[in-house]
Amino acid sequence: MGRKAQTLDNLLQNTKPKEACLIWQGCKDKDGYGLSSIKGIKMPAHRAVMSFLTDVSGQYVLHKCTNRDCINPEHLYLGDQQQNVQDQIDAGTFVYGSKNGMAKLTEELVQEIRTSPLSNMEWAVKLNLHYSTVWDARNRKWKQVK
Ligand SMILES: [Zn+2]
Repeated sequence: MGRKAQTLDNLLQNTKPKEACLIWQGCKDKDGYGLSSIKGIKMPAHRAVMSFLTDVSGQYVLHKCTNRDCINPEHLYLGDQQQNVQDQIDAGTFVYGSKNGMAKLTEELVQEIRTSPLSNMEWAVKLNLHYSTVWDARNRKWKQVK
């Protein structure tokens, strides 16, 4: 068994079954998503699970079920930002912010956002920025930030 599989097993072992779901028993973020730490890198547990199974770069890991702390790989799927935002709108948690938000982001902040376990949505709320601005900071623009 490779190192990756062992870590995936470790993640899945840190759950309790609830109906068909595997509920994460570790830390959770403010939104109720499981929070994992792999080699010191914090990321949502459901994203960590998917990243062992497939390439998740540039994509969102979304839930088919309603449990945000569920990490059953069969309940997860990859989607793009639009889908995620649509999910948030459907869930009533989408926040509309300033369209001129990009000007408010400094390299320092981008750095902080990228290393933070907070979700894009939490940052958007915290900084009063548009959701897509935070998403861009993490994924697209500001390539000069390491
Ligand atoms: Zn589930």
